[in-house]
Amino acid sequence: MFNALVLNKVEEQKATGEIKEIGISDLPEGDVTVQIDYSTINYKDCLAITSSSPIIKKFPMVPGIDFAGTVEESSNNNFKTGDKVILNGYGVGEKHWGGLSQKARVNGDWLVHMPKEFTSKQAMAIGTAGYTSMLCVLALENNNITPDKGEILVTGATGGVGSVAISILSKLGYNICASSGRLEHTEYLKSLGAKNIIDRNELAEKGRPLNKERWAGAIDSVGSHTLANICASIKYGGTVAACGLAQGFDFPSTVMPFILRGVTLAGVDSVYCPLKDRIKAWERLASDLNMKHLNSMINIISLSEVEETTQNMLSGKTHGRIIVDVNSK
Ligand code: NDP
Repeated sequence: MFNALVLNKVEEQKATGEIKEIGISDLPEGDVTVQIDYSTINYKDCLAITSSSPIIKKFPMVPGIDFAGTVEESSNNNFKTGDKVILNGYGVGEKHWGGLSQKARVNGDWLVHMPKEFTSKQAMAIGTAGYTSMLCVLALENNNITPDKGEILVTGATGGVGSVAISILSKLGYNICASSGRLEHTEYLKSLGAKNIIDRNELAEKGRPLNKERWAGAIDSVGSHTLANICASIKYGGTVAACGLAQGFDFPSTVMPFILRGVTLAGVDSVYCPLKDRIKAWERLASDLNMKHLNSMINIISLSEVEETTQNMLSGKTHGRIIVDVNSK
């Protein structure tokens, strides 16, 4: 028997969570069983656990879109007992029982071998948020946004995606402008490598179709008017990697930045990202993320602290990355 956070939902009411002892035979089908060391809390986990958005497709559900651990049993040719593995996305914690548990059973095709540079704790300090940051950096690189092209804007800067993105970009030599609603964290953002900090309110309201050209590129985890205003201020030929909706899922923009300045809007999805791109992102994280920065971003919580933490995260009371020690109740 082992512990898992199990969410249940009665008709239209909010889902409620309980730490339950469950058995191996209760786990869903899959060809790899993993003994989990750590999971994480991402924005999507918060939406799912607090029932703020219909992320979870069936109940009862063990939430948690990420986990890192050791293969306990495998009939998949790519994984054997003792392998260290990472899981991000693929509908885990949404349609298939997820990482907020001491064990999981999944389809081995969803797993990535953990780079030898990382422990399970570090891999989950990165988690989906950090791996998505790297996918965004790769999107900028694929569009030739090199450090000499100019300043890069990172929005949602104190959040998981934003914090890791700043750290990676600074190690790669980019000049970074961080947009945040929490200017009390200015020193934290500077310690990660941001040179210039702006108040997110500058970008939050409806703006003009085109503004003065300001940034060579951007990593946006906020969406809505913020994303529209960013596109309007990107330099000729620049690229915006868009991955999030913390302000909203709308995109009230015009075609002007795209047809007059050749701006590229690069969409980034981590959930069903092809395996070769995932592996590349994890390899690049191993080489391009400053481990001291990563350590400064993390808070560790136990399984019983998950529900309260998700509420705090949605109301802007947390910053950086939150790791869940699933073996601590
Ligand atoms: P966090 O909660 O860690 O960070 C979100 C940050 O957004 C906050 O810290 C805050 O930063 C900023 N923010 C919050 N509310 C608002 C608002 N109303 N207007 C503007 N900014 C706001 O979440 P994550 O970093 O884990 O995720 C960020 C976004 O990226 C989410 O929307 C998430 O769903 C998305 N995402 C998408 C993925 C994909 O595959 N496409 C994968 C991972 C995440 P500050 O206080 O500094 O302004």
